[in-house]
Amino acid sequence: MKIQDLVRDNIKNLKAYSSARNEFKSSINSTVFLDANENPYGNGVNRYPDPNQQRLKAVLASHKNVSPDNILLGNGSDEVLDLILRAFCNPGIDNIITLPPTYGMYEVLANVNAVDVIKVNLNTDFQPDVDGILSARNQNSKILFLCSPNNPSGNSFGIEDVEKLLIEFKGIVIIDEAYIDFAEQDSWLLRLEEFPGLIITQTLSKAYGMAGIRLGICYASQDIISILEKIKPPYNINALTQEKAIDRLSQLEEIQTEIKTIVSDKLQLIKDLLTIDFVEHIFPSDSNFLLFRVDDASKRYNQLIKSGIVVRNRSKQTLCHNCLRVTIGTFIENKKLVTTLKTLE
Ligand SMILES: *Cc1c(COP(=O)(O)O)cnc(C)c1O
Repeated sequence: MKIQDLVRDNIKNLKAYSSARNEFKSSINSTVFLDANENPYGNGVNRYPDPNQQRLKAVLASHKNVSPDNILLGNGSDEVLDLILRAFCNPGIDNIITLPPTYGMYEVLANVNAVDVIKVNLNTDFQPDVDGILSARNQNSKILFLCSPNNPSGNSFGIEDVEKLLIEFKGIVIIDEAYIDFAEQDSWLLRLEEFPGLIITQTLSKAYGMAGIRLGICYASQDIISILEKIKPPYNINALTQEKAIDRLSQLEEIQTEIKTIVSDKLQLIKDLLTIDFVEHIFPSDSNFLLFRVDDASKRYNQLIKSGIVVRNRSKQTLCHNCLRVTIGTFIENKKLVTTLKTLE
């Protein structure tokens, strides 16, 4: 499989926009910047940000033990996923494969780009139906989306299933690892080099506690990264985001402590939820949220809203009938949830 054969012709032939800060190659002698029509009076953000995010990528690369050339950054994972769709899927012709119930943005992004979606439901254990996926694909299936740990179910996909899909699917396989830092399973990043069509996406929005700065990360072969770099908006990661992310990534111990707390509070919340008589089933979770089935999800959802507690009603999703999804909060927030649930008639 050649990556170049998967890329849309217009993207293959595209010449990228060359920004002022891209053309200028840094030299220690340069102190006067009259190239980008900026306001020269300093206020912290009067200069354009680094379009290549070199400092931030260097920090991430050493943290994740990959080369900066294997990294592309986006304005949230959502931008990264959109770039991948636009690079590989011809509107009106190609399709992507998703595995419901899963993250809603894959389908939205496909719709925006006029790309068809082939859906192959997860099985009742929320695991991929490998044979179903391989027989549903066709020669226009460019991207297979695997969300592991999966949102909204919370579980990780079996390693052997994912491995088989990586070997057999002749296209791009995106593993969305938004929740990987909460998982017991290792990241597929450790095996990036084995699979040329593999793209791994991660984010600072969940475990790293930075949903507000919008930083999504994509790891892939240099071939794939250079294609995506060509089509990304030049200054897609703003200066404040780059700074904040670098700061936060210098506090890895603090982040680890928060993750450990969230994971152990999740175990406590599972125990507490099991004592609620209308909670019928709690699904296994490798993430920072729990999906659980109740007697009547709309009723319980509305009762919680009245008590000031907002959870997500996932009832309308495939295989999620009467299911609520709840994020693990602070110890006090989780207690409040349980206490409130106990009072509901
Ligand atoms: C939350 C989430 C993301 C994160 O998206 P960002 O745009 O980076 O905030 C990505 N994928 C899944 C499955 C998610 O649940």
